Amino acid sequence: MQCKLYSWGGAQEVTGSKHFLETENGTLMIDCGAFQGRRDECDRKNRNWAFNPESVTAAILTHAHYDHCGLLPRFIAEGYKNSVYCTSATMDLAKLVMMDSARIQKHDFEYMHKKNKKFGTSHKPKEPLYTEDEVFNCMGHFSTVAYHKQFAPLQGVNATLYDAGHILGSSMAFLEVKNSSESFRIGFSGDLGRNGLPIIRNPEVLPPLDYLVLESTYGNRLHDPMNFTLDKLANIINRVADRRGKIIIPAFAIERTQELVFFIHLLHDQKRIPKIPVYIDSPMSADATTIFKMHEECYDQKTVQAFIDHHENPFGFSDLIYLTTKEESQALNEQEGPMIIISSSGMCEHGRILHHLAHSVRDPRNALLIVGYMAENTLGRRIVERINPIRIFGEEYYVKCEVTKLNSFSGHADYQEILDYLASMDTSSLRKIFLIHGEKEAQANLKMLLEAKGHKTDIIVPGVDYQL
Ligand SMILES: [Zn+2]
Repeated sequence: MQCKLYSWGGAQEVTGSKHFLETENGTLMIDCGAFQGRRDECDRKNRNWAFNPESVTAAILTHAHYDHCGLLPRFIAEGYKNSVYCTSATMDLAKLVMMDSARIQKHDFEYMHKKNKKFGTSHKPKEPLYTEDEVFNCMGHFSTVAYHKQFAPLQGVNATLYDAGHILGSSMAFLEVKNSSESFRIGFSGDLGRNGLPIIRNPEVLPPLDYLVLESTYGNRLHDPMNFTLDKLANIINRVADRRGKIIIPAFAIERTQELVFFIHLLHDQKRIPKIPVYIDSPMSADATTIFKMHEECYDQKTVQAFIDHHENPFGFSDLIYLTTKEESQALNEQEGPMIIISSSGMCEHGRILHHLAHSVRDPRNALLIVGYMAENTLGRRIVERINPIRIFGEEYYVKCEVTKLNSFSGHADYQEILDYLASMDTSSLRKIFLIHGEKEAQANLKMLLEAKGHKTDIIVPGVDYQL
């Protein structure tokens, strides 16, 4: 038989990544991400699958973001019996992400259940997609592989993971496929990172390929250069410190928080910012930072050097304080600035960041620093769009503090970086590029740019099924 490719999620959209390669010896799945966005629609897709987990022969996880690993516990609870291959850092971070999700789901379910009992509404709360026990069970299927070490997830397929330079432990999968009728090399980019991101290495160049399944999230956008970000970060810290205000930074617990800490440490070392306390107010961030400390094998040369220079780790310095208890978090409200508070959730939808916003947004001495993507219909988006007043815990607040955006913290390559990455590869044998993991406009733009390069590779934006 001829091999087949298909996707269920992550095709013409950016969440729910699940890509399949079907050979005569079985089916290999790349990633098992959850759908995120409109609540009801995503919940339906996260529960009703268009494929049978029992029929999948092997799985590779490219990295630990929720839209790539978030449904693994359910995939296994529904009958997948074999291994999930990934790097060791990805396994540790994925466990944290899946556990966190199981806890949030349980909390939401119990909260809705209580509310229902009290008000007697007919809206039945949805059972969590999976429990913490199911995450534990899922971890038993993980099988870790080092970068560049060849393994055979299924008969006739040799796989090697290359550093994707996207988040700690992230990888691209390079597969050499031998079927009775054909043999070819195919690469799955996972999420393609960028050169110059702090802590982790640059994306590695994949060996020559016949097919490439490539992400296209930023297929129509460009990021600011990294140096510009560092200058802007130094300026805002100095400005707010001068007026003795607080800088509140909503950030995701994984990667963005560690990058910020790394940058603040760097500015501090270079004496470009004053000595002010930095609080990391999120228990998950503390756990994620522990994982970052453990995986030196993923660091770039600068980070290795930072360890050597400081005889300690660059994720902890004298003015940095990790808060884990609620009491410690609440005590910050009474404290005078200047200070920096990094807290989750990244889009200001839930968690401790809401308390910090409620206490800070009315004071013009303070600043809110936006470092991540704010999706539609989130509190973070309303603040960025200067919609006043905003509502936090049912109360109205007029935002009078400074609101500043830094938009080069993305872990995804922008379109120029994607083009540069392809230019660094030997593409002479590349027959087709399948653009996945992108919204329609981004994919259309990237397709146009790639076609304008004029080489003979077909650029395809697949739907669910696609032909090799
Ligand atoms: Zn990602």
